[in-house]
Amino acid sequence: LEIKNKYEKDRKLGEGTYATVFLGHLKKDPKSEVAIKKIKVMQEYKDGISVSAIREIKFLQELSHPNIIAMHDVYSSKNQNLCLVLEFLPLGDLEMLIRDSEGIRYGTADIKAWMAMLGRGVWWCHENFVLHRDIKPNNLLIAANGEIKLADFGLARSFADPYNRMTWNVITRWYRPPELLYRARHYGGAVDVWSVGCVFAELILRVPYLAGTSDVDQLDKICQAIGSPTEQNWPGVSELQDYVKSESIRPLQKKESFLGLFGTVGEGGVDLLMSTLILDPRRRVTAKQFLQHRWWTSEPRPTKTENLPRKG
Ligand code: ADP
Repeated sequence: LEIKNKYEKDRKLGEGTYATVFLGHLKKDPKSEVAIKKIKVMQEYKDGISVSAIREIKFLQELSHPNIIAMHDVYSSKNQNLCLVLEFLPLGDLEMLIRDSEGIRYGTADIKAWMAMLGRGVWWCHENFVLHRDIKPNNLLIAANGEIKLADFGLARSFADPYNRMTWNVITRWYRPPELLYRARHYGGAVDVWSVGCVFAELILRVPYLAGTSDVDQLDKICQAIGSPTEQNWPGVSELQDYVKSESIRPLQKKESFLGLFGTVGEGGVDLLMSTLILDPRRRVTAKQFLQHRWWTSEPRPTKTENLPRKG
């Protein structure tokens, strides 16, 4: 039986920039629910996508973890579109919770629970040599049991956008680390850790932390909030392709200034946040170190998943 014949599409759930998402079910189990995400593959890929790309995406299928969206199947439909059969998660994403300022209140214990789940999902990806490359609140879906699930891997997405493929131009700008803004050709898990830090800050502030209006402005926002990258705090930075030495070097911000903005999560939380937003990717914490921080075991303890605030 061909994979695409295993599923039946029911109705359209939504439309994103790169994909159309349908509710569907397994033909042999009419009560099952899956999301079928049809990625609009660019013309340039129409011949090349089949074997090696599918193999790469299939790797994601094996990445089984409670904080990573389950991918049940992958197939290419007629006219070579790429279809991902995903776990159906109808309760929205973290961005909806952050923005819903009238309705939903949450505190440090809730932020701690969400960040721990995000950290575990990212750690599992990195353990398996997969970079997510597009972590942002809108890609963190919420399951019926309150669990957070990493969704929308940049790898799958890149087939809809060939010019962004495997280059510096991955990751939505506000969550993009300085090494990618400088177009480093070699990068690693640290890119995801920076994005995790930006999500952490945003959960506390309830507005995006570093909301640049262009790539140049994004670097400017980073210099103001964190400090200017220099050879002193980041050896080798001046050799990166798009590095420009700024005329006014901004000093690295001290812990006191972070405590002023983010102090509600306590000194430990601020310490952890700062370790994700270290300019030099080699000095930034790894996902593994992130999970070993003392903040997780300090008071308040993370909210139990089933008691987390949610919509509706
Ligand atoms: P975007 O991230 O730009 O909203 P997507 O292509 O990821 O676009 O998804 C489009 C819409 O489809 C989402 O807004 C959401 O409502 C819905 N959707 C996506 N994935 C799922 C899923 N796994 N389960 C349920 N609904 C989903």
